[in-house]
Amino acid sequence: MKPTNGVTLTIEDLRNEIVGINQNVPLLDGSERPYVFLDNAASTPAFRSVMKSIEEFMPWYSSVHRGTGFKAVVATNVYDEAHRIAGAFVGADPTWNVVIFGKNTTECVNKLAYRFQFKPDDVVITTSLEHHSNDLPWRKYCNVIHVGISSDGGIDLQELQDALRAHKGAVKLVAVSGASNVTGICSPVHDIAQWAHEAGAKIFVDVAQLVPHRAIDILPNNDPRHLDFVAYSAHKMYAPFGIGVLVGPADFFEKGEPDIVGGGTVSYVGLEEVEWGAAPQKEEAGSPNVVGAVALAEAITVLQAVGMDTIAQHEQALLAYAIPKMKSIAGVRIYGPTENFSNKVGVIPFTVESADHALVATVLSMEGGIGVRNGNFCAQPYMRKLLGVTPEEEKAKRADRCDNPKLPGMVRASFGCYNNEEDVDRLIETLGRIVKKEYRGVYTIDPITGMYVAKGYTMNAAQHFRFFNPLGTPSAREEVA
Ligand code: PMP
Repeated sequence: MKPTNGVTLTIEDLRNEIVGINQNVPLLDGSERPYVFLDNAASTPAFRSVMKSIEEFMPWYSSVHRGTGFKAVVATNVYDEAHRIAGAFVGADPTWNVVIFGKNTTECVNKLAYRFQFKPDDVVITTSLEHHSNDLPWRKYCNVIHVGISSDGGIDLQELQDALRAHKGAVKLVAVSGASNVTGICSPVHDIAQWAHEAGAKIFVDVAQLVPHRAIDILPNNDPRHLDFVAYSAHKMYAPFGIGVLVGPADFFEKGEPDIVGGGTVSYVGLEEVEWGAAPQKEEAGSPNVVGAVALAEAITVLQAVGMDTIAQHEQALLAYAIPKMKSIAGVRIYGPTENFSNKVGVIPFTVESADHALVATVLSMEGGIGVRNGNFCAQPYMRKLLGVTPEEEKAKRADRCDNPKLPGMVRASFGCYNNEEDVDRLIETLGRIVKKEYRGVYTIDPITGMYVAKGYTMNAAQHFRFFNPLGTPSAREEVA
């Protein structure tokens, strides 16, 4: 896919694209260091081009689809074009498919689950490695079957095919993720699509973790390997302004009512009768997030200016650099593939023998200036499977607070397209100190927040960001008083 504006960028350019790339953060010893952001699987920082694009768009900002004023016409054009760009990014053909904006992947999956109008006996086949957002929405409406995990940490494909055979006729949908947010393992989604279609079912692929890392092509609708529905979030791809994308066949959304009704969804409203408009408007009730749409479209344009294949190669090289170094630290255990990781995006889940996941993540932050994620990553069944938690242990721990750092969990370092070897070096160096217990702080669990705190250290988060004060700085305010 070619960039829409003809500009090409390099991986090095991408680092300069990151807002806050040199942002210093305070450490326990009183020093400051530029933050190393290794929590991109949760949410990425913004691209500078995205911020600039928003700024350039704001003078034209207006509500869309309803106004005749010039700005409304410009804003409507921009908003519609953003739909086109978001669809083209995953290979959607606008003659068949519709692109619907929601606020994130979770909302998009919930919408889709509602719009299927399942009967209670209908079957959705999903897997045990899903993010809760690609599991719980289906459970609300029908009979959900969870296919298990194979020894390499990926979906048990044989079990999936067996389940499709066993439930042929009843199975309406197969819902899988394109890449796991825990291990980064990519699923063979086009093979699964073919099997699903042969069984008379459709396929939904949660591409939230795949879309920032790999080129995606949902393929034409008449291809047996095509993906019927996909969803993704802009905040995981350098445009954190509250927008998510659902792509699917336009005719699917023609039938039935939208999940949320109100302004913008209709063509006619009488006191007794309602006629729904056409998708996407029908599915985007209320005033839409035009600024989020601008951000998303600009981020896609930047990613395309580098090329998704170049980004994938860069992230593979980072994995190849990081994984052997992490493996060589005694006491660090990595989950998922560690030898051949060509089929995995840049996500490394690990544990440290001598310290629980929450302590490791806290020390990485307080003494390394590194942002990672710890816990269960909204994928509890998968997490317990990878950690080998027995049903008895699971039962015993259920009574604990879900933020209890002693609950089963891992630490996750996840790369964005802009991370580099120096970022990995900082992680390795700090991890090395953690396993040797050479960190300086004395950490205890705060009984109120359930989080680790360093003895004698107060984190003054409030001093690092203040909302705009129309009267100026605090000292200017004092002068006025
Ligand atoms: N699916 C996957 C694989 C994810 O990683 C996430 C976010 N962690 C989601 C769905 C949910 O995305 P959002 O929070 O943007 O709704």
